Amino acid sequence: MIKQKKAKQHEKQVLELFSQNPVMPYSEIGIQVGITKERVRQILKANNKLKPRVGMIITKHCIVCNKVMTGTKTELSRKTCSDKCANIARIKSKKSAELVTLTCFRCGTIFTRKESEAKRSKKHYCSTACYSGKWKQNGKIEVKVLTE
Ligand SMILES: [Zn+2]
Ligand SMILES: [Zn+2]
Repeated sequence: MIKQKKAKQHEKQVLELFSQNPVMPYSEIGIQVGITKERVRQILKANNKLKPRVGMIITKHCIVCNKVMTGTKTELSRKTCSDKCANIARIKSKKSAELVTLTCFRCGTIFTRKESEAKRSKKHYCSTACYSGKWKQNGKIEVKVLTE
């Protein structure tokens, strides 16, 4: 309860300072009230006082849909314009991160595979032929590295 009371008081102080001087840096407000800069930002945001300040507004493009985003640097720390785009970006980055480059244990060919699959075994083969060793009969690939 005491904690909540204190938080309310902080909120009041922040809003007071902000109304007195809307261009005061958050860090400065924080020092005066005795809270972190991030907390100041949260309070202002909760009270819809988070106005972009003149000179600090920047524009950025959403990495997914390329939509122009405008706002302060803090607001634009995100790379996407919406949760929907953020999801797409997350899936995309996950996919690319999952691919690993491997060298075929038998023929030395460099290939990519999903990390989850690659983890299953220490020896990696570029194809089922290399895996089974049947390529010898098929004559598809010359024997270069073969030690078993
Ligand atoms: Zn977008
Ligand atoms: Zn191979």
